[in-house]
Amino acid sequence: MNAPPVMIPQADPGAGYRAQKAEIDAAVARALDSGWYILGREGEAFEREFAAWLGTARAVGCANGTDALALILRGMGIGEGCTVATVSHTAVATVAAIEMAGAVPLLLDIDPDTYPMDADELCAVLEDPPPGLPPIRAAIVVQLYGQAADLTPMLAACAKAGVALIEDCAQAHGAMLGGQKLGTLGQAAAFSLYPTKNLGALGDGGVLATDDFELAERIAAIRQYGWKERYVSAMVGVNSRLDEVQAAILRAKLPVLDAGNARRRAIAAAYDAALEGGPITAPVRRDGAEHVFHQYVLRCTDRGGVQAQLRAAGIGTGIHYPVPVHLQGAYRGRVPLGPARCAETEDAAEQVLSLPMYPELTDQQVERICAALRGLGA
Ligand SMILES: *Cc1c(COP(=O)(O)O)cnc(C)c1O
Repeated sequence: MNAPPVMIPQADPGAGYRAQKAEIDAAVARALDSGWYILGREGEAFEREFAAWLGTARAVGCANGTDALALILRGMGIGEGCTVATVSHTAVATVAAIEMAGAVPLLLDIDPDTYPMDADELCAVLEDPPPGLPPIRAAIVVQLYGQAADLTPMLAACAKAGVALIEDCAQAHGAMLGGQKLGTLGQAAAFSLYPTKNLGALGDGGVLATDDFELAERIAAIRQYGWKERYVSAMVGVNSRLDEVQAAILRAKLPVLDAGNARRRAIAAAYDAALEGGPITAPVRRDGAEHVFHQYVLRCTDRGGVQAQLRAAGIGTGIHYPVPVHLQGAYRGRVPLGPARCAETEDAAEQVLSLPMYPELTDQQVERICAALRGLGA
């Protein structure tokens, strides 16, 4: 009898640590030896280096990606008495951040081919807002799975309506649209630095980016009790700081982010080739967009069957996300939906399946996954 195949996990943040163990250990030791653990030189250097890499005037570190979104809203003065449009097909964090800021989330449907927000529905609700809701003050566009939404019409519609476009780039570090990096196209962008993201800390972390210096200054104060000077709150704030150990780790990882994204694209190309001619099609790429494959997502009418077949071949899979936010217990029947009633979102939630995707997958592992993909439906 053959031994069962060694499982290839769908995500493996420990592999990212092992690949850079010497630099990361040195960075952690440097931060620990400094005797200063929160909002210090490592954090400031990370903010400068991240802003330079992204191409924005400012970056502000914070505790996690959810807080990065909520801090942007608070910094813009968006909270009670405001509606913020976003999607239901996302990490629940996006919607949680809107409610943390005190605003009402309005959940729109997705483009069924590429999965981010449907541009037509956003344009429609900005022209003709649903009755009974406070005014729409912002749209949080999730650049889901590592690929851009159809931003050009969204940016035009938001500008016309005087509504802020905020990018949720938690899955899109380094992705581009029309030659420009995501995170530089709207008024501000939030990035999660959760360990499995394309740029991941070894704990929680987040960073937000903007070209608006005043907004960045306000948010830098809000993240620490509203202090402009120590112990004196000029405005109401929160506590959402990035610690020095995580900042030092992120400074070690930022220089290899672009190479990691290139490796993700090469793995995606191998999966594409393996799927060719089979029953399941490769993920759709948006014209003019450069995908960074936070996730490589298949669309399967028989998801359970495909998942079981891959599991038998020792290949882990994930579902991002199995239950749309508007159908989850905490939100069901309570959060308003757009005119499309999230019909495409509900279909996608039943069919999406994420393959293993991280730069440290070996060629041998990728070949094993490709062989299993070639065998699907056989
Ligand atoms: C991960 C993620 C977040 C939240 O980030 P945390 O760091 O876990 O708070 C928000 N939005 C999206 C789309 C994400 O994938």
